[in-house]
Amino acid sequence: MPKLYYKFGAMGSSKSASALMCRFNYIQKGASVLLMKPKLDTRDSQNEVVSRIGLSAPCISFAENESLQNIYKTEKEKGKIDVIIVDECQFCTKEQIDELRQIAEEIPVLCYGLKTNFKTELFGGSKRLLELADSIQEIKSVCQCGKKAIFNGRFVKGLLVTEGKEVEIGGNEKYKSLCWTCYNKEKQKAKIYADIISYLKKFKELESAGEWSSDTSADNIVMQKPHVIYDDVVKDFLADFKQFQVKDPEKILQLDGSLESLRKASTKDKDFDYCMALISFSLKLERTKPGIVKTLIEDGTMQKWLKQIKKCVDNA
Ligand SMILES: [Zn+2]
Repeated sequence: MPKLYYKFGAMGSSKSASALMCRFNYIQKGASVLLMKPKLDTRDSQNEVVSRIGLSAPCISFAENESLQNIYKTEKEKGKIDVIIVDECQFCTKEQIDELRQIAEEIPVLCYGLKTNFKTELFGGSKRLLELADSIQEIKSVCQCGKKAIFNGRFVKGLLVTEGKEVEIGGNEKYKSLCWTCYNKEKQKAKIYADIISYLKKFKELESAGEWSSDTSADNIVMQKPHVIYDDVVKDFLADFKQFQVKDPEKILQLDGSLESLRKASTKDKDFDYCMALISFSLKLERTKPGIVKTLIEDGTMQKWLKQIKKCVDNA
């Protein structure tokens, strides 16, 4: 019995190359292959499936509103067809996958494509294939960290984006296949980057980061340890960066936790995580050494750290 096959993988998992090798194997056995792909993909030539490793083969491309049954019928009239291979099948409509399901009653249909978009959500074609395919197989690829990559991150100017149209044609974006840990890390980086830009500007306009205060009783006896009532901008900063808190920052930094050691810590050639640890450490110290954040903002140390983080992101 012929089957409907769905072979999915993340970006760069050589799906097109797999599709082309599969075609080659069928042809070697004397079978006649109908190779197709949706027209949406304008990366490469319209009437060719091209893989990154240099393989290519002519194909029929079809529009969103075209019937695949009709194409199959027309091609069948020209000569026998033993198998259909569809590349970039994620861009097929639900109706087109339904048609392929029906065609798979007669001949094998093999669909190659992505599973999820840059928002980590299923593509329309992928969803229908997961629902209808007889056989579902993953083509594995590796993340930058060595783990299995399952997500497709869209990057604009080196930063992960999670908003926008599903298909951006002719944009300056790039895609990278990532594991969940790295996808999340990139997402945080983009968020931190946006925050840093705003605080670099806001801190510049700040006259004072906050005022010292101590509650006194009627007899003027100091009841509480002196503490800083921070300016709203700094309060926001503390709240924003709390969510990016690095665990045990002192271990990364190897500093003694004095104000001077923080001030003197060189950021030259230091990476993103190191600078985030500096901020985390100062936030942590504020609890036992009130005013440390005030000093670090007012003397420009905090801004130096933020600038280095920005530099790390910009050069990534
Ligand atoms: Zn990873």
